[in-house]
Amino acid sequence: MASDRTRTGRRIDIEFDGRYNIDVSRVDAGVLWRITAMAFRNRWRMTLGIVAALAAGFFQLFVPQFLGRAVDQAQGLLGAGISRDLAGEALMTTAMLLVATSVLRGLFAMVQNYQGESVGQIIGYDLRMAYYRQLQTLSLSWHDRVHSGELMTRGILDIEGVRLWVDTGILRCVLLSTLVVGGAILLVRIDLVLGLLALGFVPVIAVMASGARLRLRDAWLALQEELSQLTKVMEENLGGIRVVRAFASTAYEMMRYDTIAARALALSHRRIALFVRSSTRMTFIFLAAMGLVLWVGGEKAMAGEITLGQLAECLAFMAILQMPVRQIGWMINSVARASTCGGRLFNVLDLEPSIADHPDAGPLEVRDGVLRFEQVDFAYPASARDRRTLSNIEFEVGPGRTLGIVGPPGSGKSTIGQLVGRYYDVTAGRITIDGVDVRSVTLASLRRQVSIVPQQPFLFTAGIDHNVAYGDPWAGRAAIEHSAAAAQLHNYIRKLPTGYSTLVGERGVSLSGGQRQRLSIARGVLPDSAVIVFDDSTAAVDAATEQRIHEALHDLTRERAVIIIAHRLRSLLHADEIIFLEEGTIVERGSHEELLALEKRYRALWDLQASGGES
Ligand code: ATP
Repeated sequence: MASDRTRTGRRIDIEFDGRYNIDVSRVDAGVLWRITAMAFRNRWRMTLGIVAALAAGFFQLFVPQFLGRAVDQAQGLLGAGISRDLAGEALMTTAMLLVATSVLRGLFAMVQNYQGESVGQIIGYDLRMAYYRQLQTLSLSWHDRVHSGELMTRGILDIEGVRLWVDTGILRCVLLSTLVVGGAILLVRIDLVLGLLALGFVPVIAVMASGARLRLRDAWLALQEELSQLTKVMEENLGGIRVVRAFASTAYEMMRYDTIAARALALSHRRIALFVRSSTRMTFIFLAAMGLVLWVGGEKAMAGEITLGQLAECLAFMAILQMPVRQIGWMINSVARASTCGGRLFNVLDLEPSIADHPDAGPLEVRDGVLRFEQVDFAYPASARDRRTLSNIEFEVGPGRTLGIVGPPGSGKSTIGQLVGRYYDVTAGRITIDGVDVRSVTLASLRRQVSIVPQQPFLFTAGIDHNVAYGDPWAGRAAIEHSAAAAQLHNYIRKLPTGYSTLVGERGVSLSGGQRQRLSIARGVLPDSAVIVFDDSTAAVDAATEQRIHEALHDLTRERAVIIIAHRLRSLLHADEIIFLEEGTIVERGSHEELLALEKRYRALWDLQASGGES
């Protein structure tokens, strides 16, 4: 389970596959209220939208009345033997009124749609920014648990679900209420029996439409789940495309993708079948109700109880009401969707990062730049309760000094680097810089003072110069070239046709592994940080180049505390102290000579490497 908690203290259940464990069948009024409140922050737009929806409904109610009047006028005028010209004039007047009413209805509907869509887009923008900001600040222990492909899909689809609530939910509700209530009053006023018959189809179709929509919503959710699985598979596959090719696993990956794609297709077919079945049934019921009204109304018209125009008015009302009544289903769907999507989004947005600035945190002010680990214990939040990654780690490294860390894979070396930058918090003990606990200063100021050159370099799809200057965007060309030269990369860049502006491709794909590592080193040493951690950052570089890098970096790191994590012991010859980690505990420590003299693990490893054996 993820470690970050909501502000209300409620723990969010995010399982290891990254799926949100949320009950989607429940409509959460609190969530809808929150989205509605977000919409009404755009007070003028919402007021305009609501007024326009009321006016559009109002003018639409005139259309059947004018139609009925036209029929009566035509019949009355012709029946009374009045000339064709006069009859034509009366009909023309009604037709003009009909056109004017329709134009007004159309204009107001346009304003309603525009305002609804624009408020929806504003909410979408606000949520997108808040979601992205939140993903930037949530702790790494949370990100360790959640699949990024899943987060990206949610960030797109859930925001869409919430956004549509304004238009298909709030404003359409106003329009529908106006039409249904106004239409019902007008129909019953013409003739009670005919009115009730004409309105009888409303609840039937409303219930059917809602049921169908909810079933469609479930099918939609299942489809989204499959689509998000597709994104996950594709994202992973593209990230590891070289591994896939290397193991000739294209066919297997295709099969994996195909299995999910086939499930998504089956779900789409289910949705289409549901949709077609329900809309056919609704059309049938509507036409049957119209036939009934025509039959009963016809009898009444022949008996002289109502005029032909009133019958035509009833039928026109029914035709007008048909669409909005069907849309009740859309509205209910929109409520359910907004509630589900909003719930999932707010659950992420409400999380409080477990690694955050303390309320009293101030900026880190570096005087001497001495880093100390004091009896540090650490366990990853996802680890079993009794499984510590680091135990009782103690060391001190100051400016101009170098600490080497060595140990078998998984012994906790990189974890030490992660703790220095406070990507995780220690479980016991403390880490200080100049005696100040790193938890008591702001994260931004701490991370400005701690550079980490990671084991696996990550490069952005940008030019070499932008990648080198990522930690200090104001760095001048001279500083960028100086860092690149120290990382033994300047000569290579110089020979490129576009030099420092050369694009490195997605994640630096156009560079070799060693070039990527050296570019990452250049980026790490550029900012003027007090502490710098090289996490096995020359593993892909040959021994001679590595030697030159260390010599060149000597100048750049003269006033910084340096930690070098390495498997190749030759990289640590110049270190002032070397610690040997095993299962998270320091088992040997001292200078290179002292450790050799101990004749234990370090010595054995050194002899093995010196003889050319594998470590
Ligand atoms: P290597 O030499 O292979 O890079 P290392 O000594 O740097 O290894 P670490 O990366 O610090 O080892 O990992 C120490 C232990 O912590 C390992 O057992 C690893 O599985 C575990 N670990 C590392 N990162 C995480 C994480 N994000 N969540 C849970 N456990 C982790």
